Amino acid sequence: MTDFREDAAATAEWVARYLEGVRELPVLAQVEPGRIRAALPVAPPEQAEPFAAVLRDLDEVLLPGITHWNHPRFFAYFAISGSEPGILAELVTAALNVNAMLWRTSPAATELEEVAVDWLRQLLGLPEGLHGHIEDTASTSTLAALAAARHLRPGGAILCSGHAHSSVDKAARLLQLPLRKVPADAEFRMRPAALAEALRAEEVAAVVATVGTTSSTSVDSVADVAPLCAEAGAWLHVDAAYAGPAMVCEENRWAFAGVERADSLVVNPHKWLFTPIDCSVLFTRRPEVLRDAFSLVPEYLRTSDEDVTNLMDYGPALGRRFRGLKLWAIIRCHGREGLQALIREHVRLARLFASWVEEEPGWEVVAPVPFSVVCFRREGSDEDNEALLERVNASGEVYLSHTVLDGRYVLRLAVGHHRTTEEDVRRAWELLQEA
Ligand SMILES: *Cc1c(COP(=O)(O)O)cnc(C)c1O
Repeated sequence: MTDFREDAAATAEWVARYLEGVRELPVLAQVEPGRIRAALPVAPPEQAEPFAAVLRDLDEVLLPGITHWNHPRFFAYFAISGSEPGILAELVTAALNVNAMLWRTSPAATELEEVAVDWLRQLLGLPEGLHGHIEDTASTSTLAALAAARHLRPGGAILCSGHAHSSVDKAARLLQLPLRKVPADAEFRMRPAALAEALRAEEVAAVVATVGTTSSTSVDSVADVAPLCAEAGAWLHVDAAYAGPAMVCEENRWAFAGVERADSLVVNPHKWLFTPIDCSVLFTRRPEVLRDAFSLVPEYLRTSDEDVTNLMDYGPALGRRFRGLKLWAIIRCHGREGLQALIREHVRLARLFASWVEEEPGWEVVAPVPFSVVCFRREGSDEDNEALLERVNASGEVYLSHTVLDGRYVLRLAVGHHRTTEEDVRRAWELLQEA
């Protein structure tokens, strides 16, 4: 072991240099499979090595195999940011290394998580009294919500549209519940009339409505879906993993109309709230159902603490990282206004990009742009579009991904990194046109 203070300073310097210089690195890793592994020793070292050796290999061996998600020209999937306050908070989290399974195993971790999550609730304009806790990913949050729904209606079906995230399929599989896909309309929103019919056809444990679907960011009408769920006695889970943070800006809140009637709601600060992965918030109006579904207290975890929250009771995991710290740091160090400014800029950039595509003969925008994602394509075959995307990504200058809408291959540009500028988006458009 070497001197911690020196190593910490060197690591901070490494991180600062990385963040300053990441723009110059190819966004998509340009290595062939097995290259990184082949450059690493097969066996562990016998003797202790200095941390400096780890930093050296980071530069020499690992960086070429990193796809730079924390790059302002990362436009694939959903662009995310590990912004600076979150990066620093992660370091502190590791230093404290608390496990917030029970209130008493770190009261501040539990109470700060409650405060940070309640701040997020306020920022998103959600009703008072909503319970919230942090899970690692939306996949886990949705699994927890659907487990609560199953607890109330064992064996009931799960309904969602064909545009819901695959994590819903996975949760249904894990919970061994039947899953039915409700048809969507021409703008990729769940059709309420079709939902009503599906709710009449069998006993339904839960309906998952998506605000900001993964392919096109379409918005299921929660205001239309909620009364149907209430009538059928089905749990309503709203998946706003990506689009939830957009509600920091009032002009986007139309997409949350009716959400106060949902039984549960997932929002990922690690998607579009500049928080390093992983941080997913599961809100619920019915924490007692989550607790009934998950609370299972073996003798060694029994405590006499009264009137405290033991966060292990609300989800599948016992051990809980101190994730509230980074969320708290993000909200404090960006502030409501800072978060609003970033989100507004991303929405503006996406619409600007969409306007360029629309104005250019031979190109088309294929879905509405409610948030910061543009789905578009070049006239021609799916193969042509796929080849075009490959060429653009091979440049290393930008990274975009694709999806399939109405059976056609379409390109996707997602804006979401806190350092992305108009110039970055313009460069993506130039590269697409040149390709
Ligand atoms: C990204 C996303 C998910 C999955 O999120 P993870 O945190 O990676 O599990 C689920 N639903 C929607 C709508 C998403 O955009």
